[in-house]
Amino acid sequence: MPDATRFYVDGAWYQPGGCETHAVINPATEESVAEIAFGTAADVDRAVAAAKAAFPAFARTSVAERRELLEAINAKLIERNDEIAYGISQAMGAPMALAKGAQAPSGPQHFGQVIRELDSFAFSEKLGTTTVRHEPIGVCALITPWNWPLNQIATKVAPALAAGCTMVLKPSELAPFDAVILAEVMHEVGVPKGVFNLVHGDGVGVGAPLTSHRDVDMVSFTGSTRAGVAISQAAAPSIKRVSLELGGKSAAIILPSADLETAVTKCVQGVMDNSGQSCNARTRILVPNDRYEEAVTIAVKAAEALKVGNPDEDVDLGPVANKTQYGRVVSMIEAGIREGATCLTGGPDRPAGLDRGYFVAPTLFGDVRRDMTIFREEIFGPVAALMGYDSKEEAIEIANDSDYGLSGAVWAENREEAVAVANELRSGMVHINGAGLDSAAPFGGYKMSGNGREWGRYGLEEFLELKSVYGAS
Ligand code: NAD
Repeated sequence: MPDATRFYVDGAWYQPGGCETHAVINPATEESVAEIAFGTAADVDRAVAAAKAAFPAFARTSVAERRELLEAINAKLIERNDEIAYGISQAMGAPMALAKGAQAPSGPQHFGQVIRELDSFAFSEKLGTTTVRHEPIGVCALITPWNWPLNQIATKVAPALAAGCTMVLKPSELAPFDAVILAEVMHEVGVPKGVFNLVHGDGVGVGAPLTSHRDVDMVSFTGSTRAGVAISQAAAPSIKRVSLELGGKSAAIILPSADLETAVTKCVQGVMDNSGQSCNARTRILVPNDRYEEAVTIAVKAAEALKVGNPDEDVDLGPVANKTQYGRVVSMIEAGIREGATCLTGGPDRPAGLDRGYFVAPTLFGDVRRDMTIFREEIFGPVAALMGYDSKEEAIEIANDSDYGLSGAVWAENREEAVAVANELRSGMVHINGAGLDSAAPFGGYKMSGNGREWGRYGLEEFLELKSVYGAS
């Protein structure tokens, strides 16, 4: 496995002294696959100092130079796709097919998109005699989770580099290997020393000192809403920019005109993808009350058709990513049962034949009420709630009844009708009739799902300051 006991700072690897090491656990076997070192505030200081020293020169590089670096990084990531996929699967349990076909390629996908943005992005604009300059914000702390590890790293590192920023990356301590490979790639292609720095560790030892650091100009964070709140508070005294991509509790509205079989099946498969560990999973599936029983039958069939098992085999779902997550998902399922929802399939017990590893059966609940924990809280596991509604207005009201506002879906025969409903949803993204994500479009949420936007030119703008130069011409 890539060596996560070293840190990459100022263009070189070093073995940190005096810090703890922890095992990285494969969630399918519950066995250690490698060790990771947890850095301290001293490692953060060293990395931030390197990024700060590198910033003035890197900020002055031309767009063409930065574009060339991004292309070189992208090519190497593509070459190392399978190795990256293996590291991700070993650390967080994604089936190898998903890891190779979606998790690892998401890195080059975002690097490629940012390269395309650079072809048209105007770093300098004229407003009469005023010039508006888009300048790199400075030293960035990039903090990422474990569920789509390289995806979230790439959506930060690629635009930060494109903008001319320097950075310290702290990836998830639970899935660190793709970040190590990325650092190797950065070194190989000659990213100037200090521009990209990698420090491993947890939220307390590395995340907290990074986010409160006086010399960090911006924090770009993806993770839980709980940590997002802590980071906002830690960053507040230094007024640094904080861009947050947080949790979700999204809804799919299946309108009466939709093809119920297709819509319900796709909704269930969508929730279960990556064992339910996607922030934008549409975990509340809303169907017309007069077709509720029919929808239940379709949903149960779709969930029971999914194969759960060892990520190395031909399965739809691997385990959930770690012991904490497993305990959380099981306790949420138990809360659903305790609070009176009907468990339609799945449940808290391990799927048959899997007595080791953090495996959870695809679980569906019916008769869900809005005061239930499984309606209100993000579960981040293969669990969905089916609910009935009487009118379109009620469906919209239920969908919007959440502290979160990340994603949503609408299914209808008539696209105009679907768009009208999509426009009423208080969320940052809505998928109509199963349309996929678009890496040029902004990714991010309303309400407690965050305040930032990633992907495409919107992600690039997050890493830029605006300067008005009056009387420039
Ligand atoms: P987490 O918040 O526990 O950890 C995320 C990262 O933050 C890790 O690197 C962790 O070490 C670090 N961290 C934790 N506490 C910190 C603190 N106080 N200060 C600084 N850093 C800290 O989240 P997780 O369990 O790794 O990921 C799952 C969560 O991420 C879910 O809530 C999910 O919805 C969310 N997520 C959101 C998006 C999005 O784009 N909106 C994408 C993926 C995941």
